[in-house]
Amino acid sequence: MKYYYDFHIHTALSPCGDEDMTPNNIVNMALLKELDMIAITDHNSCENVEAVMKVAQGTNLLVIPGMEIESSEEVHMICLFPSLEAAKAMQEIVYNSLPPLKNRTDIFGKQLILNEYDDVIGENDRLLLTATSLSVYDLVKEVERQSGVVYPAHIDRKSYSIISNLGWIPEDLGVKTIEISRYAEFDKYISEYSTFNLIQSSDAHYLQDISEREHFIELAEKSPAKVIEYLNKR
Ligand SMILES: [Zn+2]
Ligand SMILES: [Zn+2]
Repeated sequence: MKYYYDFHIHTALSPCGDEDMTPNNIVNMALLKELDMIAITDHNSCENVEAVMKVAQGTNLLVIPGMEIESSEEVHMICLFPSLEAAKAMQEIVYNSLPPLKNRTDIFGKQLILNEYDDVIGENDRLLLTATSLSVYDLVKEVERQSGVVYPAHIDRKSYSIISNLGWIPEDLGVKTIEISRYAEFDKYISEYSTFNLIQSSDAHYLQDISEREHFIELAEKSPAKVIEYLNKR
């Protein structure tokens, strides 16, 4: 079956994410757009994933736990996990790999932690919007250990992308999927990168940017494990 997705959505936990990016707003917008599956991918953290998953319970929307992890090479990598537990285990590794710096809300913005009723229950005071000490190779190894999938984010972008920072996608990295931003031309990339699965996601920091029902993957079953299996194969 075809499942329409948006696998790159930030919440109000991302300092650059709008404060309207709450669990209920995100789920309702995704349902309004008739998406079948979304992934929550905040910068270097998954602390709002659980609330979004709770809101989506009982709806047709599948929420996949994720993170957008910044490697030591300042490459953004989308990481998706089969369960909240796996995402949290990876989050521990990421937190231990971040520099011990505090967020500057005046420069970067707030990092809000919300519950399923959209109440602010805390603020993450780490500097999340920065590079971890994990290389892209470390990320592949660690995410694999959590039975997840990792792939380069917005490769068409001029900064924080594997192409801009490394120059190419190393073959021995073993990634089978790449992501392009909503500004990229899908047809151009699908012919240029024909050996990869091509994912186009919104990288939404604002509600109105969440993807339309436009891009899909074909799966036998709607589950995080099946999505991960698909993105890990080519
Ligand atoms: Zn990014
Ligand atoms: Zn992003």
